[in-house]
Parts: sequence; structure tokens; C-alpha cells
Amino acid sequence: MLTAKVIQRVLEILERQYGNTGTALRFRTPFQLLVATIMAAQSTDKQVNKITEKLFAEHPTPESFLELSVEELEEKIKQVGLYRNKARNILATVKMIVEEFGGEVPRTRQELMRLPGVGRKTANVVLSVGFNHDAIAVDTHVFRVANRIGLAQANDPLNTEKQLMENIPREKWSAAHHWLIWHGRRICRAQNPRCDICPLTEYCEYYRKTSGTSTQVVD
Ligand code: SF4
Repeated sequence: MLTAKVIQRVLEILERQYGNTGTALRFRTPFQLLVATIMAAQSTDKQVNKITEKLFAEHPTPESFLELSVEELEEKIKQVGLYRNKARNILATVKMIVEEFGGEVPRTRQELMRLPGVGRKTANVVLSVGFNHDAIAVDTHVFRVANRIGLAQANDPLNTEKQLMENIPREKWSAAHHWLIWHGRRICRAQNPRCDICPLTEYCEYYRKTSGTSTQVVD
């Protein structure tokens, strides 16, 4: 794992590169963010945005989603992967939000994770992006990029999240989550990472191992 000083340098570079970039998902309310995030698993944000533009115009609130049958929702979201499961989970989640939470998306991780189809990652996205709480959602990009660079050294998302929370100042958790996602999409791709154009080669542990060069020591 990288030292505290190197981690600070890496974060400065990522901040310079990606600044205030947020989620690519389009939404107007925490409820819409929650639905879009459930839909985004094993799909792309671009694909989800294409569907939700019309879906949220017709059904902007939890109450208006209750007008839909499972079959109708399946038909509307069938371009995303696992759409049958997602349609069922979304409608079960909507029902719980209306019946147990007075039509409002709950604001704690514990409550969010009781909703069908909502795991820790989705809960953290809603907390951080929807409610501005400090949280790090570890998706496939964050997991891969953080462990390649050496911001974490873990075999699973939960331990990656814990280590990132230890290594990154709390006020940067939410932003750093987006920086790592964008870096994973644009440069540190799963297949063939673009180390040739990456500004982190001096510090990255994966690059040091695969290129045979040594990383920078920051005093
Ligand atoms: S140097 Fe390569 S492996 Fe390391 S963060 Fe950059 S693209 Fe990813």
C-alpha cells in the first residue's frame, strides 16, 4: 500500500484531472437517483439515461411508479441487463418507500439496505450523491483502480471501502469515488489500462510491477 504522502499526491493529481465531475446518471431527486442506480448494475449509465429520460417524465415519484405493473415496467426498461429482476426489485422498493417511509427515500445505510435490490454500493451512492453524506461507493471501477494504484490492498469491495475511508480524508470521500470511476472509465480500463497516457505512473503500484520501474518516493 502507498504511504500517506504518496496517497496525498495521487489524490491531488486525480483532483486536478477530474475536479468536480459527479455521476453520469441523470436524475432530479434522491428517488430517481435510487431507481437509476438500481438499473445501472451491469449496464452503462448512458443506456440507463436513455431509458430514464422518458420513464421519469412519465413517473417522477414513488407514488406514480405504483401505477405500473411488473410487466409494464419490464417493457420500459428491457434495454438494461437483468431487467426482469430489476423491474421486480424497483417496484418492491417503491412499495416499501411509500408504505414504510412515507414516500421518502430513507437517509441511513441500514434503512437503504433493507430495500429490495439495494446493496451497500447502491446505498452509498444514494447517501453520497443524493444526500451529500460522506461515503465511498465501491463499484467495479473503484475496486479495480484503487487496488491497482495502491490506495487500497484488498480482495473484496467491503475491505476496499474500509481502507479507502482510512486512507482518504473524509471530506474527499465522495469526490474521490467519482475521480476513481472516471479514471477507470477513461484511462485505467479493465482490459489494457492506458498507462502510456496516465498521470499516475510515478506512483502506481500496478505500473511499477508490470513495467519493472520504481515508483517515486515522496518525502
Ligand atoms: S499507471 Fe496504469 S495501472 Fe496505474 S492507474 Fe495509471 S492506467 Fe491504471
